[in-house]
Amino acid sequence: MSVSNHTQGVHAGREDLRELGVHALPVDLSTTYPLNDLAEGTSSLEALASGAATAANPVYARLYNPTVARFENALAQLEGAEAAVGFASGMAALSAILLASRERGDEIVAVRPIYGTNDHLLDSGLLGNRVVWTTADRVAEATSERTALVLIETPANPTLELVDIADVVRQAGEVPVVVDSTFATPVLQRPLALGASMVLHSATKFIGGHGDVIAGVVATSESLAAGLRHVRVATGALMHPWAAYLLHRSLPTLKLRVERAQQTALDLAQRLRELPEVRRVFYPGWSSEEQRSLRDRQMAGGGTMLSFELEGGYAAAAQIMRSVALITPAVSLGSVDTLIQHPGALTHHVVDAETRHASGIADSLMRLSVGLEEVEDLWADLAASIRAAHQAPSAPSSADELPPDAFPSAQKSA
Ligand SMILES: *Cc1c(COP(=O)(O)O)cnc(C)c1O
Repeated sequence: MSVSNHTQGVHAGREDLRELGVHALPVDLSTTYPLNDLAEGTSSLEALASGAATAANPVYARLYNPTVARFENALAQLEGAEAAVGFASGMAALSAILLASRERGDEIVAVRPIYGTNDHLLDSGLLGNRVVWTTADRVAEATSERTALVLIETPANPTLELVDIADVVRQAGEVPVVVDSTFATPVLQRPLALGASMVLHSATKFIGGHGDVIAGVVATSESLAAGLRHVRVATGALMHPWAAYLLHRSLPTLKLRVERAQQTALDLAQRLRELPEVRRVFYPGWSSEEQRSLRDRQMAGGGTMLSFELEGGYAAAAQIMRSVALITPAVSLGSVDTLIQHPGALTHHVVDAETRHASGIADSLMRLSVGLEEVEDLWADLAASIRAAHQAPSAPSSADELPPDAFPSAQKSA
């Protein structure tokens, strides 16, 4: 039966519950499974260890868990994918993508800016990959026969610039394109329909949606999924069944949450633009006519994230982090409540200052993840904090300066 997106979000991965005679999602916490037939155990183990989606017997929970598989199945449906593979975190998911790509080569072509720790994982070469940084219009030039993957993030974190997925796919040719779609969720964007090979989510964010679970998930083809499962079995970066349960329980409200928060985010972004203390507001599609038409082609709205540059520099940003009352000063995003953070000092502090500035992350940039509160309450808190930060005639102190780089580029290349 073909159903609307709303209905799919509510029912995906629950198709067999009626037959099972239950209404809520079952949770299986077994670490091991009875093996009544040894030969069946051996063949199941062999199949799962090499990346099969299912087998006659789960054997051991690092190989397979039905609660996790149920969530994966639901998420795959929402992304229009053949399969999805769950991990312990978004970073574990990206690590598995990088490790599984090694059989095609060690070179990754990536477009900045991306999430700070994604940037760090690639740039540090920690997993043995080399990275070629490029811009969205130069992917074809950067790609060679040594390229195992192209990685993009759209909307990008924290500048909210959009990357044209279909155009990057075209430039990449035969090379698989991975899209970190964490900011968009399957509600706003379906990268696989645009030709991408893998969609990466930090499920910690909107998919979990309540700030209480760390997880990652990749939606892709069955053949690429097998490679990811193989890495997962070998490295053990598993999604716990409780996490899978919480994520799956959050899926029916995903569309409602994203659409409601998106309305509020757009409203706040427009109001922020009017404040004299705010130099510039970043929201998907706002930076140029080209970005606007890309947003309208590629996404069902600009999303729930915005960022803004202050006139008062780092000192004003630090003051706002201290003075917000309703809004929580914290990293992360996509929760039911509104969070504010300072990318230069927090999420992107692992990226050196020169690279940060070159990719549009100013020292006075703040990022807001808009939740489900009433817009007037959020505005009262935000506007009062911004005004107060620009009025406070505080004497300059070391607290007014952004702390030095955690990983300066000289140290990384050594
Ligand atoms: C948070 C985040 C990640 C990393 O995910 P974790 O679940 O924290 O490991 C990757 N990409 C983006 C865009 C993120 O926001």
